[in-house]
Amino acid sequence: MEQILFRYYGLTNVSHQSMEGYISLNFRVKSDQGKYVLKIYEHTEKEKAEILAETNLIQQISHLDEQNISKPIRNNLGELITIVSADNGKKIYRLLSYVEGTFLAEAEHTPSLFNSLGKFMAQIDRSLLNFRSAGIESRRLEWDLQNLNLIRPLVDQIQDVNQRKLVEHFFIQWDTNVFPKLSSLRQSIIHNDGNDWNLLISNDQITGIIDFGDSVYTALINELAITITYALFGKENLLDWASHIIKGYHATYPLEREELDLLYYLIAGRLITTVCKSAQQKTLQPNSEYITISEQPAWRLLEQWVQISPAAAKNSFYKAAGFPTPQTQELEALINRRRSVISSSLSLSYARPIHMAGAVFQYMFDQNGDTYLDAYNNIPHVGHQHPRVVNAIRNQAGKLNTNTRYLYDALAEYGESLLSKFPPSLSKVFFVNSGSAASDLAIRLAQTHTGNKAMVVMEHGYHGNTRMGIDISHYKYTSKGGKGKNSDIIEAPIPDGYRGIYKGNSTETGKSYAKDLIQQLNESDNKIAGFISEPIVGCGGQVPLTPGYLEDVYQYVRSRGGVCISDEVQTGFGRLGQFFWGYEMQQVVPDIVVLGKPMGNGHPIGAVITTDSIADSFDNGMEFFSSFGGNPVSCEVGKAVLSVIKEEKLQENALLVGNYFKESLKSLQSRFPVIGDIRGHGLFLGIELIKDDSLNPNTKLAQLIKNEFSEKNILISTDGPFDSVIKSKPPLCFNKDNVDQVIYELSLILEREV
Ligand code: PMP
Repeated sequence: MEQILFRYYGLTNVSHQSMEGYISLNFRVKSDQGKYVLKIYEHTEKEKAEILAETNLIQQISHLDEQNISKPIRNNLGELITIVSADNGKKIYRLLSYVEGTFLAEAEHTPSLFNSLGKFMAQIDRSLLNFRSAGIESRRLEWDLQNLNLIRPLVDQIQDVNQRKLVEHFFIQWDTNVFPKLSSLRQSIIHNDGNDWNLLISNDQITGIIDFGDSVYTALINELAITITYALFGKENLLDWASHIIKGYHATYPLEREELDLLYYLIAGRLITTVCKSAQQKTLQPNSEYITISEQPAWRLLEQWVQISPAAAKNSFYKAAGFPTPQTQELEALINRRRSVISSSLSLSYARPIHMAGAVFQYMFDQNGDTYLDAYNNIPHVGHQHPRVVNAIRNQAGKLNTNTRYLYDALAEYGESLLSKFPPSLSKVFFVNSGSAASDLAIRLAQTHTGNKAMVVMEHGYHGNTRMGIDISHYKYTSKGGKGKNSDIIEAPIPDGYRGIYKGNSTETGKSYAKDLIQQLNESDNKIAGFISEPIVGCGGQVPLTPGYLEDVYQYVRSRGGVCISDEVQTGFGRLGQFFWGYEMQQVVPDIVVLGKPMGNGHPIGAVITTDSIADSFDNGMEFFSSFGGNPVSCEVGKAVLSVIKEEKLQENALLVGNYFKESLKSLQSRFPVIGDIRGHGLFLGIELIKDDSLNPNTKLAQLIKNEFSEKNILISTDGPFDSVIKSKPPLCFNKDNVDQVIYELSLILEREV
């Protein structure tokens, strides 16, 4: 090496030190003539063309001198590369100037430094504006954002299911938001790797840049996206930091609105490239601590990024570039428009209704770009827009959607996996499209099987919006607009260990309630078709039936020829943590189970599960057909939900986080006696607020908390006969940090109000 450096470059007294390199062998060289970087490559025509293209590129950047950019040094023949024959084949030698200084990664970051970072990259890009190069343009790199699809197969190598979910989410966003538009944006040759170890600073300004090995011809905006990505590692207030860079860039090389529209997703794109490449490296070197540590900032940033709504990011980017931010629609106008076509019998939540624009996992985004923590909605059971569910819909809807009069695999496959979650006696499933359709069908099954008509229903129970659903829903037929119960309905007083006549949670209490009901039923000569109840009565105020109750009631109802129905629309699919189904809490097995809400994570599916003999009785010559029930798309969605619950251990998470939630609430209760009762299981919790020891309901406080929470960007709701019970039934990916946020805001309100 010394000989070559002397012969071709006239360097004397050479010493060298090896540096990291990917394609070439790299050395830091010291000599009497100064410091240099030497790169040695295998000689191939392709390599040679690439090096010459890169060398050409660097020469375009004429505003930087060799102290600030690694400039190629000509050999004494005036050539930019030196080809040397050696025993082990031809090599290409390339000498570059050595850029001294502190790396951006090592410096303290300030707004003015970030502004100069934007400016610096814009100047580089401007100097490449008219540069064309066949060598660079023919590169096809995984690190070029327009080639994100090359990264996609690596997703499967991400071991952690929550991390994989994040990456899959952003791939879906890419398909929808970036893919159709990226190629129509301004294209240019760019540096393509403005990371904090490639940029040098001096006096709070970016002054130098190295490594053009990733340069590609791609969308110009990718330069800014990549630069911002690395600059945001380890930061809070991400959009503010990004704004400084955008301002600097835009002032030097004006951006276009369409470019900023994609920037949020492009930053995510760079992050998923980074973490997918790490996952690939980890597969190759499973014990490398270095990879695990170096990927951490990217994961952290992805987790922060997903909580920022795309609209908030876009508004902030527009503002930084001085573009007017898109107008949001007036709430009043939106409400009026809705009222003109939708009956006012459909309610809107919160004193100030929220105009929702998007959601992901346990977060929802409104049209202004605000992020809400969803501590309330139980339908997006495995998380809003879970990528597995979204992909199930996309893939199957693009293939086949038909009805149960044809054979297709998904129906039996889903039927089998769903039934595998039940004891053997529950062996048949009917698919429908809602909880209401399911409970309606459940009553028909009960009546057809028993030949009886009367239904025993739970006080405060709710089972659906069909005529039958209302008939069996005490919560509906006794409240405003209700016509009272009809003669075939027998009401069971709610076995409520907090407010009811028997207090406590012992089996004795449950049995006392059961005994009273049995006595009441003994006095009735109605022919009982069945008994229906939720295991935790939602509209009753999240009241779990006192233990021991169902055992005796089921036994009695069966002795009267009736069947027992458990409405698991709210309690099912692992939400209760310890139990997959609510009836398991009471050591009983129902004859019919009603399913809905979480089953499709928002996709409209419901089901009735029952025994062979009840299903046989129903097959009396009249066909059962549901146009949509059990269609292939719904079945694929149902399968996806079940596998996500298992893979992401969401039942376990419901137990863990639910217990933490309950404990945290209990410590608040010890400070604030207005919290009368904390009840429920897993992530199905009720917090009953009272005024005094005589349990007078504190409806006012409950409503205040609900509305103030929505202003603080937390979604929660109230329920119960007095609307005095705060209910929280969040997506099962809810975590302890989310709980802390709820508890913190709750404690602030309680400290002020009581
Ligand atoms: N049963 C219960 C326990 C419910 O909570 C609901 C919905 N709130 C239903 C049945 C009806 O389900 P859907 O709204 O899907 O018709």
